[in-house]
Amino acid sequence: MQLDPLPPLSDVILNYRLAAKKSLGQNFLLDLNLTSKIARLAGSLHDCDILEIGPGPGGLTRSLLAEGARKVIVLEKDPRCAPVLNDIVKVYPKRLSVFNVDALNFDPNSHLRAPVRIVCNLPYNVGSELLVRWLTPTQWPPFWSTMTLMFQKEVAERITALPCSKAYGRLSILSQWRADTKIVMSLPPESFSPPPKVHSAVVHFQALKTPRFPAPEKLLLATVAMAFNQRRKMLRSSLKSAAPNIEKLIQNAGLNPTARAEEISLEGFCALARELAN
Ligand code: SAM
Repeated sequence: MQLDPLPPLSDVILNYRLAAKKSLGQNFLLDLNLTSKIARLAGSLHDCDILEIGPGPGGLTRSLLAEGARKVIVLEKDPRCAPVLNDIVKVYPKRLSVFNVDALNFDPNSHLRAPVRIVCNLPYNVGSELLVRWLTPTQWPPFWSTMTLMFQKEVAERITALPCSKAYGRLSILSQWRADTKIVMSLPPESFSPPPKVHSAVVHFQALKTPRFPAPEKLLLATVAMAFNQRRKMLRSSLKSAAPNIEKLIQNAGLNPTARAEEISLEGFCALARELAN
């Protein structure tokens, strides 16, 4: 696929000696057809700024630009990628900004203009931490309107899981409270170089204007954490330390005190957090 005048990704990796580093979670996508499909799954890019964490050799970055993104801001920790990314800047001089930084220690907000879409093949070692940060900003709605993110398939399933399933838990509640979430693509290990041990999946998040059900954020997250820390226990015992009259509060929320965390819907947890706040 000829997206741009730049060489194929396999040549880029050879020319710049970009041997993948496991410590940086480097599993590269070298097929520009695949990266372009991910870019298109993010939605229309023309009037949007895009934040990409971990561009690596730049496959997804090139696709985002070729698909017409207004501006792409990339944060890459590995300094070996800088010359590769600068070659892309030369093709798209005003539309790509490269920051050689650790995404965990850099706030890109002042470089982004709304609407913002986040699109990344995330490094697995920091993916969940970044996701939790993006879902729990100080203000809602957040700086992003959609996120299209690659995770290990198991993490993608936890994000989108419904009650009474093994995958349902804290990440499901946190994600679905404030966003519509959907797995939009699954990829086998062979799609990557080197292939990881596990399958991967892309999740699309659409931020809701307000959370799906009202609830005090800190109490909701603390209650959900407590309940799922002992997911096989009945709520009345897993939440025993939350309040002296916890059984009554659980009932007031319309829930059964003998139910287990994985049986409680998002709406149920929000009702319980409101009761606890009262
Ligand atoms: N986007 C590229 C692709 O699809 O081929 C590379 C994806 S690879 C899974 C993850 C990338 O994230 C690597 O390039 C790695 O160097 C980078 N990375 C790892 N930890 C990072 C961090 N804390 N901040 C920024 N980038 C990081």
